[in-house]
Amino acid sequence: MQYQSFLIKYAEIGVKGKNRYLFEDALVTQIRHSLKWVEGDFVVSKESGRIYVNAESEYDFDEVIEAFKCIFGIAAICPMVQVEDHGYEDLKKQVLSYVEEFYEDQNFTFKVNTRRGNKKYPVNSEQINRDLGELILHTFPGTKVDVHKPDVMLHVEVRNKINIYSQSIPGPGGMPVGTNGKAMLLLSGGIDSPVAGYMIAKRGVKIDAVYFHAPPYTSERAKQKVIDLAKLVSRYSGPIHLHVVNFTDIQLYIYDKCPHEELTIIMRRYMMRIAERLAGECGAMALITGESIGQVASQTMQSLTATDAATTMPVFRPVIGFDKQEIVDVSEKIGTYETSVLPFEDCCTIFVAKHPVTKPNLKMIERSEENLEENIGELVETAIQTVEKIWC
Ligand code: ATP
Ligand code: MG
Repeated sequence: MQYQSFLIKYAEIGVKGKNRYLFEDALVTQIRHSLKWVEGDFVVSKESGRIYVNAESEYDFDEVIEAFKCIFGIAAICPMVQVEDHGYEDLKKQVLSYVEEFYEDQNFTFKVNTRRGNKKYPVNSEQINRDLGELILHTFPGTKVDVHKPDVMLHVEVRNKINIYSQSIPGPGGMPVGTNGKAMLLLSGGIDSPVAGYMIAKRGVKIDAVYFHAPPYTSERAKQKVIDLAKLVSRYSGPIHLHVVNFTDIQLYIYDKCPHEELTIIMRRYMMRIAERLAGECGAMALITGESIGQVASQTMQSLTATDAATTMPVFRPVIGFDKQEIVDVSEKIGTYETSVLPFEDCCTIFVAKHPVTKPNLKMIERSEENLEENIGELVETAIQTVEKIWC
């Protein structure tokens, strides 16, 4: 026996007043979008503060649950049976057949929890709880009532139709993508930046991404890896517009003109400047990076300050206080880890100095950047004009 319907529960935070409709509509849109990739026909509907998904054909239960688990804003997924209201005796029958069908072995403690949304229904919820409780005890001798910590919490919702459910599968939480603006993710091929993108998307932020590619120093395979990572993140965030910037000439120019121990930090500042320009063009209001305090020389407090000074946009660094292992744990959970650890070179590692500055002084960095004045403007313009855009 298979469930034909799902009740989608969402977090109430931030869903007060007018926002509620935006939140619900965005969630419905995301659910429809995700279910397009799942085999089967589904109807998603919104009804007095509830979102329902009805299967209109055969489908794979696990595949549907996996899809729901990627949709931010979903607090819980309740597979349920929805029946027409054909009177009280019929309701009792339906509840008994629910227990029989969905529990192979009827040895459990339970509690019936009725909510009567339809106040015209002739029996009140207390009475329904008592009647159904007695009936279940009587019909299935292995069952016992436990009102404090039941194995099975059997929900019966009497609305225009009647909803019966007892399972609640946790969703990812967060807010539906699209309810909190857009940001530009600096996506490298590493472990951290896909996790950073996931975390900001979880707060309802739509994401675009930028990757700085340095052919021939970085290979096509390194680029493909970033495309694959963007696709993996897009299962959660919705489609990502990936901007691939050819960064080679800028890197070589910096390499030629600036002290080598400052290379990484100056490169990073140009990445921020270009990312900011691209963000402005696509309506993104902030940048996202996978930086974490102290992880490498370019992520000390002084380096982060110097990086920040290159942009006026807020820079979101959601993993800033995470240990590497904590970031790895999230990347394993969201399925990006295995791709992230594929051994392809990154543009930063190729041009990295033996002894990079760990406490850059902003004035000093700015002075070094003056050496770039002659050509850097044009190189940046060219990099922006020749961006390759890929839908992931
Ligand atoms: P990650 O694992 O995310 O690559 P990392 O530990 O390798 O991070 P860095 O190489 O110092 O750290 O990069 C810090 C952040 O800068 C990255 O998380 C990413 O947001 C951004 N970044 C670095 N290199 C690139 C690149 N080639 N293209 C786009 N963004 C980049
Ligand atoms: Mg990296």
